[in-house]
Order: sequence, then structure tokens, then C-alpha cells
Amino acid sequence: EHYSLVVTASIGISIYPVDGANAEDLIKYADMAKHEAKESGKSCYRLHSKELHERSLNRLKLEEYMREALKHDMFELFYQPQINSITGKVEGAEALLRLHHDTLGIISPVEFIPVAEDTGLIVEIGYWVIRKACEQLVKWENDNAASISISVNVSVKQINKPKFVSTLQDIIKSTGADPALLEIELTESIIMINPEENISKLQEIKTLGVKLSIDDFGTGYSSLSYLKKFPLDTLKIDRSFIIGLTKDTRSDDAVIISAISAMAKALRLNIVVEGVESSDQLDCINALCGDKDTLIQGYYYSKPLPVGAFIDYVSCNFKYLSH
Ligand code: C2E
Ligand code: CA
Ligand code: CA
Repeated sequence: EHYSLVVTASIGISIYPVDGANAEDLIKYADMAKHEAKESGKSCYRLHSKELHERSLNRLKLEEYMREALKHDMFELFYQPQINSITGKVEGAEALLRLHHDTLGIISPVEFIPVAEDTGLIVEIGYWVIRKACEQLVKWENDNAASISISVNVSVKQINKPKFVSTLQDIIKSTGADPALLEIELTESIIMINPEENISKLQEIKTLGVKLSIDDFGTGYSSLSYLKKFPLDTLKIDRSFIIGLTKDTRSDDAVIISAISAMAKALRLNIVVEGVESSDQLDCINALCGDKDTLIQGYYYSKPLPVGAFIDYVSCNFKYLSH
């Protein structure tokens, strides 16, 4: 049989003598430019430039720094409270990763996660995150703190590893964490890429007793028929629908939020509304979809906090509620 193969090329260009004086440098810079061409969607060319050079260098430095950080515990998990919209109680927290840098201070995940994903480092980092979150759950249980669930973000590169489920199981076992308090956040695009295959993987995760949630819901494309088939627990409504939200419950965003929430309720999914910053937004959400299965996460209540500050936040919250 005959097949037709489609071949495309990504080209990186460096020019003598502006970019380099010898072959070795020129090839290195052309290679960097080629990487850039691939990142820009392939099938194109990129010229080496000073900005590009600096960017590649920064990425390399960041990569090296992350390897060190894994060895020397320079990553930290911050926790952002998720508050029940009816009772006002903190019921959960999203674990958000931070990277400490000795001169740059705290580096945001928006900066380092993409590099970690490109280099494959995300796999090791991701397991570190899950382990840390599990250890935290056990600590809270030992301290007899109220049971607060922790959700962690898992990247596509990580979940696609054949050993993901068994490693997750090992971490849960070895830490002794209650899997029912651990939730895994996946973005829609992750599970929609290969839905049939993913259903069985998600089911395996569910058999460990771990919860599953869809992050940034409404920003990717979701096939609603699959949504029903996935063994999900929670749907997180993306911040982009909340940004423009005002008191007006008839605005476009408000209508979308109430539609998503109606669907989630029909599918018996819990809802987390992300990015709530003002009391107007909170009132609007409570009017649209506030009920016992809706949690609110946003700066209005709190930014992500280091664990100590998070615990203080929770104890104030409980004291306040018991009054
Ligand atoms: P995300 O999973 O959508 O996390 C929510 C982001 O929104 C967090 O940013 C949080 O600080 C921010 N946020 C929460 N409430 C508000 C609000 O009211 N207003 C505004 N303006 N922002 C709010 P952060 O911590 O910078 O994390 C950014 C992204 O980095 C996360 O987006 C997630 O995709 C990724 N990320 C963070 N930690 C991890 C991790 O451990 N693993 C992986 N794979 N990705 C992570
Ligand atoms: Ca998330
Ligand atoms: Ca999100």
C-alpha cells in the first residue's frame, strides 16, 4: 500500500558575523532559533536575535534553577481558600506552586510551569506537589484540624505518563493521606484530546478514591456528551467569566455562569467559582448559582497563602462562624 507523507520544516537562521564569529556559535544560535520556530507553531523560520538569545538563556537558567530547587526544597505550596457560598466555611484549598529564587524573590508558576512542561521537569515537580499536599493533609488530620480538602493541578505531560496512576497510589499509601480529601484538577483540553482513552485513566484515578475536577471550564472546548461520561466531581468556572461580572444578573457573563451552573447541577457536579474579587461579584454569583455545593475561590476572600497564614485564615474563619 502507498501512503503519502507530509513533511514540514522548521528553520532557524543565524548570520555571520553579526550573530557569531565561529561555526560552533552560529550552529548553537541557529538551533535556538529553530526551537523558537517550533514553538511558534512549526513550519516557519526564525532568525536569531538578541531578544531571542536572552529568552533562551533565561529559559536555560530557569531549567537549571528548577533542578536545583527540586533538590534543595526551594519550591513551596501556597494555599488559596475555597469557601462555601452558603455557610461561609472554608471547605477546601487549591495548592498553588511557588518557586523561591535567592535574588529574584518568588517566581510565578505562569513563568516556570511552561518551561517545566517543555523540559519534562513537570513530571518530577508534579509528584513533589502531590506528595507535599498529601503530607499536609496528614498533618492537618494529626492536628485534628477541620477536614479541608486540597486540590492540586496536574499537567497533561504528567497525567500521560503510563506510571501516573501507580505513582499517585504510592504517594497516597506512603503518606497515609485520605484520598477523599485530595482532588486533581485537569484542564478541559487535557481530557478532550483523547477522550475515550482518558475515560479509563480517569476511572482508574477514581478507584483510588481521589476526586477529579475540570479546571478553567468554559475556556477550552468541551464535548458535552463526554462531560457526562467522565467520572468528575467538580467543575471550576473560569475567572474570565467573573472578571466583567457586576451586580447585573442579566449580563452576558451572568447568563453564561448560570447556564454552566445549571448544567453542572444537572450532572451532579460541585462548582468552584474562581477569581471572585468583589462583593458585587459574590452577590451576583450567590443569586445565580449559590448553594451548598458551590465554593468560591478568589481574592475577595483571600489570595493564595503560605501554609502558616492559611491556617491562621482558617482558624479566624471558624471562630467567626462559631460566633
Ligand atoms: P489556575 O490553576 O487557574 O490557578 C488559579 C490562578 O488564579 C492562581 O494563579 C491564583 O492565584 C489566581 N487567582 C485566584 N483568585 C484570583 C482572583 O480573585 N483574581 C485574580 N486576578 N487571580 C486569582 P497562580 O498561583 O499564579 O497560578 C497560575 C497557574 O499556574 C495556575 O492557574 C495553574 O495553571 C499553574 N499552576 C500553579 N501551580 C501549579 C502546579 O502545582 N502544577 C501545575 N501543573 N500547574 C500549576
Ligand atoms: Ca487550578
Ligand atoms: Ca483555574
